[in-house]
Amino acid sequence: MTASSRKPADVSPALPHGEQPLLSRLLEKCLEEPGGTEESTRTISLVQALLEDASRERASDIHLDPYRGGFQVRFRIDGVVIDTIALKEGDGRRIARACKSLAGLEPAVSRIPQDGRAEVKIGNRLSAVRVSAAPTVAGEKLTLRILETEWNWIRLDQLGLSQPDFDLVRQATRDARGMILLSGPTGSGKTTTLYALLHELRPDNKAIVTLEDPVECILDGITQIQVNPRQGLTFAEGAKGLLRLDPDVILMGEMRDSASARVALDIADTGHVFLSSLHARDAVATITALRNYGLEDFEIAAAVDLIVAQRLVRRLCLKCRKQQAPTAPEIKWLETLQQPIPKKTWHAAGCPECSMTGYRGRVGVFEVWRLHEEDADLILQHADEHTLRRRLRKQGMSTLLEDDLGKVTEGITTLAEMQAVGGFGFYTPGATRTVA
Ligand SMILES: [Zn+2]
Repeated sequence: MTASSRKPADVSPALPHGEQPLLSRLLEKCLEEPGGTEESTRTISLVQALLEDASRERASDIHLDPYRGGFQVRFRIDGVVIDTIALKEGDGRRIARACKSLAGLEPAVSRIPQDGRAEVKIGNRLSAVRVSAAPTVAGEKLTLRILETEWNWIRLDQLGLSQPDFDLVRQATRDARGMILLSGPTGSGKTTTLYALLHELRPDNKAIVTLEDPVECILDGITQIQVNPRQGLTFAEGAKGLLRLDPDVILMGEMRDSASARVALDIADTGHVFLSSLHARDAVATITALRNYGLEDFEIAAAVDLIVAQRLVRRLCLKCRKQQAPTAPEIKWLETLQQPIPKKTWHAAGCPECSMTGYRGRVGVFEVWRLHEEDADLILQHADEHTLRRRLRKQGMSTLLEDDLGKVTEGITTLAEMQAVGGFGFYTPGATRTVA
């Protein structure tokens, strides 16, 4: 029944005014400069210009997509891929070869995937870039991910939690017990929230150990273990060693199968605070996911303390957002979801400040469930998702959909963005069935 649909990750969204963004100013300028310099010097300055353009636009990834007769350069900004400049075949190939060399890949090899890392200076900063090359039917495609080398702790109050949700989460971290679980699809910001929770749990008198695959950033004051199944360090093996390190709080990057769920339960059973993330569409569906991993109702009821479901939506650019009434299709969509129609909403306009996208940065949308005794009773009775949701609604829990609609009316994000991200329409108040 949900009218939302996920935008394919690699489709460029239409820009608000149908304008072409000026995302590749430096590269364009470099390409226009007359020859004369040595070929290799010119290529290096092209790569440098490409990286600086990407960095200025806050891009997390650069795609170099081959097509017949050329390459399309695209930037991922705030989670969305946007077309920038089109390169002639010769220039594209030269840039690709230079990037491969920089990252220690074999420049002449293009028929097998390769992966490497380079340290590069972007502006005045030294950054790490992961370069991945893969053969496609159109030729070799390159993806450059600009890695965060400096980690700044994101605090709980910076994630976008509403005041009641924030209070609930903070209270849960203060008297934490058992499992704290983050759920949502890939790229929904679960890792950032997990680290923000760790930060909250990090007073000096606590020992925190993490088990991650991969370790995404090195954190001061925390013991991090990198899972390496090829060398025999699985989640299960890591967990055994980790308990001997006398931790108070344990974080396991992701619960992805029955084995890791069992490990998680064993750890929570030992009385430690345990944090992890898993794929589930909302807070209640997390219980189903745990059941599917083979955990028994009595185990889930005893172990789980807090579940936070989340999505990431793009934040409207404050310089150019425009207040407008919702459009007819938006009204229809909200009616389908049985939601109230806000009189005023905001729309993305686009200005140079936001690379003409109308958005700048992202914010979390949340659903927070602190499990009470009554919830545990229902889980013990093997209550289905619908029964659990109905109880939570009675308790006044705000759903992902409602949290997001609140952000739409406050001018933080748009209905269009909400539809693009999707996954908000699983529960409609008053509806008699859940929708998958
Ligand atoms: Zn703007």
